[in-house]
Amino acid sequence: MKIHSVKFIKSAREPLHYPPGDLPEVAFAGRSNVGKSSLINNLVQRKGVARTGRTPGTTQLINFFTVNDRYSFSDLPGYGFAKVPEAIRKDWGPMVESYLRERKNLKLVILLLDIRREPSEDDLRLRQWLDQYHVPHHAVLTKADKLSHSQGIARQGNLRQTLGIPAGNEPLLFSAKTGAGRQMLWQQIERCCLETPIR
Ligand code: GDP
Repeated sequence: MKIHSVKFIKSAREPLHYPPGDLPEVAFAGRSNVGKSSLINNLVQRKGVARTGRTPGTTQLINFFTVNDRYSFSDLPGYGFAKVPEAIRKDWGPMVESYLRERKNLKLVILLLDIRREPSEDDLRLRQWLDQYHVPHHAVLTKADKLSHSQGIARQGNLRQTLGIPAGNEPLLFSAKTGAGRQMLWQQIERCCLETPIR
């Protein structure tokens, strides 16, 4: 995918403040430190679109931006960081849930998991929730460069099973460091954005 433009639109918490949903939207979700910012920056080939390495758990807004004036991306706040105050942590569920339920132009949720870690309760809960509400989603295993190719393939199978994902819908292996998986992820995004009608 050739990137011509990446435009930050706004940050929002409430549906009322979301930007107009006139482009197909892809949302990115995962626990803090999973490599979400690095993946987004790699996908759009810009360094600072999603800010990497900030104190985990401090971003509690949904960040919207457009890519090539053709896709809308939404960067959901990372979850599961132990030091986040309880009040903020409690905020995450309702905020993200109303986004996922109400966003009519949402075509795909990219659910990020660290290839070396076991999914957390939050990861499993989110994946089940997406399934239950029929929100199209695809798992992506980040930091794939940290394992050998064969180890990566083995993890892909194990994590698919742990997450309860049907065979044939394998999580994608991705590395922001090497760019591995970038093209396949873009193909997946394009497919979902072109095929599924706006809800
Ligand atoms: P976020 O909190 O989910 O947005 O995670 P970040 O993108 O800020 O990444 C968290 C840490 O993981 C940083 O130290 C990154 O350098 C590192 N990281 C992210 N992606 C990769 C990757 O593909 N490979 C490796 N080796 N490290 C990564």
